[in-house]
Amino acid sequence: MRILIANDDGIYSPGLLALADVARDFAEVRIYAPDVEQSSMGHAITHSRPISLHRTPIGGFEAYRVNGTPADCVALGVHMWERVDLVLSGINLGSNIGNAMWHSGTLAAAKQAALLGLRGIAFSTPTAGGEPDFARLRPYVVRVMELLITEPSLSLVNVNLPPAPAGLCWTRQSVRQYDGRVVPGKDPMGRTHYWLTVAPVKGVEEGTDRWAVERGLVSITPLRLDLTDQREVTRLVAERPLRP
Ligand code: MN
Repeated sequence: MRILIANDDGIYSPGLLALADVARDFAEVRIYAPDVEQSSMGHAITHSRPISLHRTPIGGFEAYRVNGTPADCVALGVHMWERVDLVLSGINLGSNIGNAMWHSGTLAAAKQAALLGLRGIAFSTPTAGGEPDFARLRPYVVRVMELLITEPSLSLVNVNLPPAPAGLCWTRQSVRQYDGRVVPGKDPMGRTHYWLTVAPVKGVEEGTDRWAVERGLVSITPLRLDLTDQREVTRLVAERPLRP
């Protein structure tokens, strides 16, 4: 089995090595990761300039740094390394739950794998100012891997690990609230600038990703690529039929 590892925090992120270190117990591992941080780039791909890669062995792994987005890294990695079975992305420094999935570069790397007909799993963990305790997370990453490898029908999965996990939980995406905020500030010259950031969300729904992580459970959310609102399509076809 071949596992390709990507992320959006960049090739030198400690979360990337933590994930690769687990993956090597399951398969042959290669890393294709952005040369600089690409967080919140979503599923952007580079189309107006060529991208290149440089071999950068790191932590004993065969690794390549790419001057592109997370999705670029996976597209290029799958092209360069034949017969990849699974793409893992992360472990992201910061959770990717609820509506944050729309701009997550971590999830986009896993999503690129699913688009290519492969399997993709994204891993994220919150950071409360310091570096996550990856040794503490490791047994739970192993458990998630053991679980998901035996569920081949799951082509895209979003996993979020709390800082001190106490168990695993199947979840759905929390979509009721959006935590994105614009926060004004001042630069050293007194000029106003703006941070696009997130604010804590309160009152989360049971069974969601955010709910699980708040309770110290590893949130495992199976996702799909089809964004169609099928209920609305069915209603519209019946109520507002369109004639060619
Ligand atoms: Mn990131």
